[in-house]
Amino acid sequence: MPSPRYASFALALPVYQVFTYALDDERPQAGTRYRLPFAGRVRTGLLLEPGDAGDIDPARIKPVDSRLDDAPVVDAHMLALARWLADYYLQPLGEVLFQCLPGYLRGARPQRSLAVIRYRLAGVGADELEALARRAPKQWEICRALAASDAGLTAAELKRVNPNWHPAVRALEARALVTRDTAAPPPAVLVAGEQPSPSPEQASILQAIGARRESFGVHLLDGITGSGKTEIYLRLIGDALAAGRQVIYLVPEIGLTRQLIERVGERFGEAFALSHSALTELQRYRAWERFRRGEVGIMLGTRSSLFAQCERLGLIIIDEEHDGSYRQDDGIRYHARDVAIKRAQMLDIPVVLGSATPALETLHNCERATWFRYRLDERPTAFPPPPIQLVDLRQARLEFGLCAQSFGRIEHHLGCGGQVLVYLNRRGYAPVVMCHECGWQALCDQCDARLTLHQSVQALLCHHCGHSRALPAACPDCGHAEIRHHGVGTEQLERGLAQRYPDFPVLRIDRDVIASREMLESRLERLRSGAPCLLVGTQMIAKGHDYPAITLAVVLGADQALFSASYRAGERLAQTLFQVAGRSGRGDRAGEALVQTRFPEHPLMRELASEDYRAIAARLLDERRAFGLPPFSRVVLFRADAVELDAALARLGQVAEILRGARGIEATSLVGPIPALMTRRVGRYRAQLCLMSADFRALRSVLRATLAAITELPSSSRVNVTIDVDALDF
Ligand code: ADP
Ligand code: ZN
Ligand code: ZN
Repeated sequence: MPSPRYASFALALPVYQVFTYALDDERPQAGTRYRLPFAGRVRTGLLLEPGDAGDIDPARIKPVDSRLDDAPVVDAHMLALARWLADYYLQPLGEVLFQCLPGYLRGARPQRSLAVIRYRLAGVGADELEALARRAPKQWEICRALAASDAGLTAAELKRVNPNWHPAVRALEARALVTRDTAAPPPAVLVAGEQPSPSPEQASILQAIGARRESFGVHLLDGITGSGKTEIYLRLIGDALAAGRQVIYLVPEIGLTRQLIERVGERFGEAFALSHSALTELQRYRAWERFRRGEVGIMLGTRSSLFAQCERLGLIIIDEEHDGSYRQDDGIRYHARDVAIKRAQMLDIPVVLGSATPALETLHNCERATWFRYRLDERPTAFPPPPIQLVDLRQARLEFGLCAQSFGRIEHHLGCGGQVLVYLNRRGYAPVVMCHECGWQALCDQCDARLTLHQSVQALLCHHCGHSRALPAACPDCGHAEIRHHGVGTEQLERGLAQRYPDFPVLRIDRDVIASREMLESRLERLRSGAPCLLVGTQMIAKGHDYPAITLAVVLGADQALFSASYRAGERLAQTLFQVAGRSGRGDRAGEALVQTRFPEHPLMRELASEDYRAIAARLLDERRAFGLPPFSRVVLFRADAVELDAALARLGQVAEILRGARGIEATSLVGPIPALMTRRVGRYRAQLCLMSADFRALRSVLRATLAAITELPSSSRVNVTIDVDALDF
């Protein structure tokens, strides 16, 4: 009897251990999925490493239930990347590995052969053909069609030759006159369509990056909006494809518009796979599989597309690298930009980041590390982005959020045939609903938050938990008949503008009206027509879009950021304002950008109106340095949520206790446990404990020494702890 074999497995569970099972496979392969008995159920696990029983009593090791895959679904490189991610971000390896897979493969579904079968003619002699023509005209017809195609024909193509093709092909296959082939055709290197010749600025950047295309390097394209960054990505992609390499091209969720997809399609034909959250699981699996098999050279998609596997990855591009959507905050916590850089380093390939408003971390890394930074200061075809002008609200009377000066500019631009964008990052009709008699406010029962009035559905909604309630007819506390609302959301803005400017369409874009990507596209399509109109929207309209008829951008509600508790608020405000301003004046008319504020004397507001993003970013970085905030220190946030606040605080107290016992803790600072900013959310109380240090090594060693003890604290639905490495807010 052969001695049993063992292997370690990772399960898709929030547990940090890996598990050993016995199996009798001849050659167990890392990265294949198995069904495993676990806690009374059968679950899917991924084989990590064949090995021995270690110090576990072999009698207690269970055998695997069955094997799901013949070939690995996770290749050796992705396994190594996942191990790095799990280690760096302190996330359970099993969860990380299964998140790296397309959703389709996360359970027990078998891999599907999504390969396209191509039929080819296998040397049929002239006399044989002649014989066929007489004896079997249908087979003859198919042979002739196959003979005319070098690449062979797919089932769909054969069907067009003859709807009843199948029996004929079967007969031909039986006589070995036709063969089938599932090998992927080599990725098309289609540089179809015209491409503009690069400007001198672009050309020198292309040359600099091109000279280093065979090795790891981080290249930042620090270029104003519309300066031709995308054009550089497309050139770099073309070069990589021509060299037989594949490319991952990441964009923020909202940046993935039809405009960009069309632009990539014009350049590279069908040679790209597309992956984003609006696709079905099967569509995403198909994209993943096509890229993995090398049928397409480009994977264009959002955050999770970073985990696409392939054999010849030669370049990773991250557009709008500062964008918040690259940070995943549910399930496993990681930052796609940072993981991409690690991936590129492991493969010794370049990674190209682009932004008009780079993250402070990125700018810091360009100064500190050997990252390459390239500036693009001109728009090749259009006017420079407009400067930010402040509109002083101190003496102004507001009508649905806008003041007379703003109305004046709106009317001017509409009159000149321009489109006007009004940005307000607040959905709904009004954010505050209250009784003026007794001071009652509409609050959420589940969260520490106000309810927002949504006029369209005549309801009060919580933007944090989705809880909704009818608008009461009278004050629930004192019975007073008049309940008032305060503040302005996009819904009110849309209504106000539509009443004031009945001759112009008002298009609103926010999560309440845009349920799908298609709805977004159809509204953006109307913008593209170029006719004068008003566009009202939240952050969905702030980034990436290129609509040349927009000549005025007006920003409302910017003041909130001046008083935010987050140390990142200043950076985010600057990014948003420069991005919104950058939507204006992209065509053949100069643009204008207004920011309404009650605090025109606030230092940050004055800076925004007089400096460019780079100068402001440099100053914000100095401030971070002075206060020892990231990126000059690293932060690990332990969060707990529980049915009572005391339980959450007590659990983090235990975590703090463990951390304090670790060697090296004196090089770090530990703040908390304290209640989180929004303490109650969706009915649970939340607390946090912040471990911070400028000495990253010390921080790591404290975490290494304590992780096991921390993750072994009992976890239950009563109290739950998560770890957030490089937390963005705390
Ligand atoms: P970004 O990605 O920086 O916003 P894009 O690459 O989208 O900039 O370029 C902005 C506009 O300028 C696009 O319409 C693009 O086609 C055009 N463009 C970019 N580079 C050139 C060039 N070298 N010559 C002519 N037009 C260009
Ligand atoms: Zn009242
Ligand atoms: Zn709520």
